Amino acid sequence: MQIMKITSATLAIVVSIAAGSVLAQDLGPRVKKLADGVYVHTGNGFDSNSGIILTDEGVVVIDTGQNPIESRAIAETVKKLTPMPVRLIIDTEPHGDHTTGHFVFPQAIVVAAQGGGESMRGADKAAPNRIQTMAATSPQMKAALEGYKFITPHIEYNGTMTINFGGKTIELRHMKGVHSESDTAVWLPKERVVFSASAFVVNQINILRPFVTIPDILAAGKMMRSLNPENVVPGHGTPGTTKIFDDGEKYYALLMQRVDAAMKQGKSLDDIKRDVKMPEYASWGSQDRMPTNIEAAYRALGGRI
Ligand SMILES: [Zn+2]
Repeated sequence: MQIMKITSATLAIVVSIAAGSVLAQDLGPRVKKLADGVYVHTGNGFDSNSGIILTDEGVVVIDTGQNPIESRAIAETVKKLTPMPVRLIIDTEPHGDHTTGHFVFPQAIVVAAQGGGESMRGADKAAPNRIQTMAATSPQMKAALEGYKFITPHIEYNGTMTINFGGKTIELRHMKGVHSESDTAVWLPKERVVFSASAFVVNQINILRPFVTIPDILAAGKMMRSLNPENVVPGHGTPGTTKIFDDGEKYYALLMQRVDAAMKQGKSLDDIKRDVKMPEYASWGSQDRMPTNIEAAYRALGGRI
């Protein structure tokens, strides 16, 4: 009887280790637990962030990292957390700095908002030597690209999608006109975490493409704030709270105000691009993207291009 007791106690310890009770420091400084079974793998600097969600039926990864070196680091983190495979990948956007590493998780089904596959195929066609160029950047990158395969979304949804998988509920919200051709906010209602894609980035000027509109960005922020999340994980930049949306709104409000004043003076778009300055945001990264922001503000205020 005594032996039996020791055995079951030992077994309980072994089981709890196998179930993934890893000490936080073992995961390194870039991995943070946000809620039960929900982790963020933060990118270096402005590199893309990824999410790791543990479920009873396997792992869900949100974005596979800035590049394949990062994808392999994410795969290592997953291995420390659980012996289960990555079975699902959710793309918050189709750009290469979120999707090139999909091949590192060959057992996964990839889900994206409508337009994701088309965007990826277009980018691949436009830069056919992209992978060779990437491999040439360093021996580490070359090694990380070993076995590369171009993987586009297996499933594309439009509007919203709810995934009930392994005891976790994951809601996808298609955000149109906020950053890329296919942007998804990933919301975990029970854990109160939202992966907010690149609708808002932190301490950085975002690139606003011709199909992106400031009203769409602001509407996406409003929608995500209404979910009442505790944690907000942007596509790029330090994860935080809904303050990320507040900061973005304040920035766009000031930008619109200044562009509006310049338009009322009868200035041309070129003059406005030259004259409008945002010194309050001089510390933000990617200042070279400012003309795309001024152009979006100009369009939002009824200016014709
Ligand atoms: Zn992007």
